[in-house]
Amino acid sequence: MTKENLNENIIELVGVSREFEDGVFAVDNMDFKVKRGEFVTFLGPSGCGKTTTLRMIAGFDKPTSGKILLNGEDITVLPPNKRPINTVFQRYALFPHLNVYENIAFGLKLKRVKVTYQDKKGNTFEKVEKLKKGYISDKVEKALKMVDLEGFEKRSVSTLSGGQQQRVAIARALVNEPKILLLDEPLGALDLKMRKDMQLELKEMHKKLGITFIYVTHDQEEALTMSDTVVVMKDGVIQQIGTPTDIYNEPNNSFVADFIGDSNIFSGTMIAKNTVKFIGKNFDCVDDFPINEKVDVVVRPEDVVLMDEDKGQVNGKIISSIFKGMHYEMVMKVGKSEVVIQDTIERKVGEKVSIFINPSDIHVMEKEFSSNKFEGYITKNNTVVFGDGEFECDVTTLYPDSTLDEEGYIITKEGEKIDLTDVDVNVEVGLKDIEISDDAEAGGAIGNIISIIYKGDHYQLIVRTDENEEDYVFDTEDTWNENDRVSIIIPKEKIKLSLKQEIKR
Ligand code: ADP
Ligand code: MG
Repeated sequence: MTKENLNENIIELVGVSREFEDGVFAVDNMDFKVKRGEFVTFLGPSGCGKTTTLRMIAGFDKPTSGKILLNGEDITVLPPNKRPINTVFQRYALFPHLNVYENIAFGLKLKRVKVTYQDKKGNTFEKVEKLKKGYISDKVEKALKMVDLEGFEKRSVSTLSGGQQQRVAIARALVNEPKILLLDEPLGALDLKMRKDMQLELKEMHKKLGITFIYVTHDQEEALTMSDTVVVMKDGVIQQIGTPTDIYNEPNNSFVADFIGDSNIFSGTMIAKNTVKFIGKNFDCVDDFPINEKVDVVVRPEDVVLMDEDKGQVNGKIISSIFKGMHYEMVMKVGKSEVVIQDTIERKVGEKVSIFINPSDIHVMEKEFSSNKFEGYITKNNTVVFGDGEFECDVTTLYPDSTLDEEGYIITKEGEKIDLTDVDVNVEVGLKDIEISDDAEAGGAIGNIISIIYKGDHYQLIVRTDENEEDYVFDTEDTWNENDRVSIIIPKEKIKLSLKQEIKR
């Protein structure tokens, strides 16, 4: 038995990191195994470290820590040409002046092999030789057949379509008979129709060849269509590894949920065992978290059941409806929240309806809670209203290099005059940027302390307002008591504003 058969993992990343000179960790402590013959896809937004990961597997780049194993053996520092791995890049990098045959044969023509000879006396000696012409042409024919381009040998690559060029690029990688094929966004430059066709072809090719494919894309649909295993990445860190079904149905966190498919993501609060509050209502759910914990609640649009007004759990009003071929995609407004709903029966814009969500379709996830986010608006006095309160703020931060004139209008750096009255804004306030006072007049909003959690060297408090039950979460070293009535103080410069949408002028 060969070593290959002993180890079912062809590639293994062990604690692999790649830190660039500027201190950026493109890949951060990655542990991951690829099974022999598997179709694995790295999926994530641009800049999340997909290409860097692939380059390290190929040997074009080296980890700054950790190691890479091939069939259980350390290949971390092995040069690319010593690895049984070939890469297909997004930009095909074909030679425009060479024809299809020459493009594919290029690498083989450069290759030199040691051949052992025997002289008349029976002594063996080695000579370094080029590959034989016949050998090369056999390999090229085989590779062309694999990508369905038989008969294209003499064609100039510049006369080929994008899809055909990409197939030549794949043939050029396959001609070396790699054990692993790496594909870095190989369909990125193709139009939608061609991309769909090539996805199926690649999947077929993977089946026929029986080798391992490691694929990189930022397109979730592509990843779900083609892969055995999907690895979702963000900021150099693996968020989830699973089959397409796992990833779709059981996302680990709101990032994965948001990235994969359409989702409603609501901010919620656990208010009792198996009860989560979001969009202003309490819902039974299956997941459990500590009471008062801030959570993300993910609900797929197809899991929201539309009903007549008062028949479901929450009432709202349809504010948009688009026919999507198989179903209608509708948006229901409830309070300040919007719920995206898919249904085969349309409810017209303006119609009052109700929704029902099954407890098992409510996915409650730990919130990566790093700041308070509110929706608000600017008043005519250039203060901002949010979270059941009104606060001083610096509206000039909404426009880079802008100033305020005496009448309180914004003057942009281009010299344009803007009235911000009633303009909707997103407001963000850090966990360390909120103070409270027992003087009701001192702050911009008033509420009760509903939760105090000890975090080792400080407390994390939640103050909830009366009117709309808005929550302020913040860290403090001071001791307070639950139910204390307090007002919320936020320094002007700690209120981060951004426009909800570009103002129409
Ligand atoms: P992806 O392929 O997922 O778009 P990359 O692996 O290309 O992401 O990049 C990941 C991160 O590493 C990005 O923040 C990128 O700017 C950074 N990065 C990539 N290559 C270099 C480099 N040679 N020097 C410095 N930073 C780099
Ligand atoms: Mg990339």
